[in-house]
Amino acid sequence: MRIATSLNVFGNRFPAASHLGRLAAAGFDGIDFNFADLLTQLDWHHERTADAFVDQLGRAAGDADLAWVQAHGPMFQMFGAEDPHPQRRALCEPALRACGRLGVPWMVLHPDVFPGAYDAAHRKEVLKRNVEFFRGLLPSCERYGVGLALENIFDSAAEKRGCPRYFAAVPDELCELIDTLKHPLVGACWDTGHARLMQLDQRAALRALGARLKVTHFHENDGLGDDHQFPFSFGKQGVDWNAVLEGLKEAGFAGAWTFELGKPFQSVPEPLFDTMLKYVAAQGRYFTKLLAG
Ligand SMILES: [Zn+2]
Repeated sequence: MRIATSLNVFGNRFPAASHLGRLAAAGFDGIDFNFADLLTQLDWHHERTADAFVDQLGRAAGDADLAWVQAHGPMFQMFGAEDPHPQRRALCEPALRACGRLGVPWMVLHPDVFPGAYDAAHRKEVLKRNVEFFRGLLPSCERYGVGLALENIFDSAAEKRGCPRYFAAVPDELCELIDTLKHPLVGACWDTGHARLMQLDQRAALRALGARLKVTHFHENDGLGDDHQFPFSFGKQGVDWNAVLEGLKEAGFAGAWTFELGKPFQSVPEPLFDTMLKYVAAQGRYFTKLLAG
């Protein structure tokens, strides 16, 4: 099993293409392409510009012997009519194209909600409009050979949307969304930190996802904020990692062990940056060994 990290560890501190060797040196062998940090850095609709950027990153990954295990797609309000949401939604197509060019198998996107009471009628409409949105991307998925991994978010993220619940933040709704789309290029991304915010039983959730589970976002918090810290940062308040391991085994998960840890790497002093990377990669080795055992 590959041990991967999102490129968001570099954030705005280091340009990823010239620093990928640091990930390999630390012990990672997989990477997660993070579009969310790059949306405004170049004109993704200008194919020559986008290809040049992507090819440079692809060469750097090849030189460092790192495999693309997944990507994070653009982030936006699916039903937001005001800037920047329509522009960001329009970046899904060029993002899928870039994934295809790099050989990224799965791109993560978020389900969403629109204002309403989240009663049965509203929830039904939310499901329908999510299905319509993701279905609209499937021709591009097929064209570029890239799947959509739909991620569990958390209820407090729906406050800004005028809704008491976030759609598909719980496994039965995420399964329902994926099963309704019913396409081999649609699966799930499980985010352990978001599940912690929802106080979910991670073992039962992962077991329920089963073969739908394609990619992972591993990080933790204390149940109060979406901190994206590495495992064991919060002691008993953090994620129950034994439950995660049991759930992954029961789901038969064979993808990559992928960390999504932007925040600690934004503040760690530069002389400690590589040591922190090494520690996180060592955590990945520890977990994957337990998973294989
Ligand atoms: Zn995530």
